[in-house]
Amino acid sequence: MRQVFLDYDARPVPKTKRFCIKCQKDIKSDRPARIVRVLDEMVLHPDDAGDLGEDYLVGMDCAKLLGLEFSRPEQ
Ligand SMILES: [Zn+2]
Repeated sequence: MRQVFLDYDARPVPKTKRFCIKCQKDIKSDRPARIVRVLDEMVLHPDDAGDLGEDYLVGMDCAKLLGLEFSRPEQ
């Protein structure tokens, strides 16, 4: 299974429920975001994940750091 380490930063505390799972920064409602499937701090490739893991929002900058192929559009 293709996967990549999430390497998240737990220090910032999000102020809203719309935040990036990797950097924990809030994502403004008018800003695009993507969805990652995470299992045990690993981001699973959308084509390989099946029923494994849980979906989380990720900001565009972090989505690019992970590799865009490891996330999918928000809607
Ligand atoms: Zn981020």
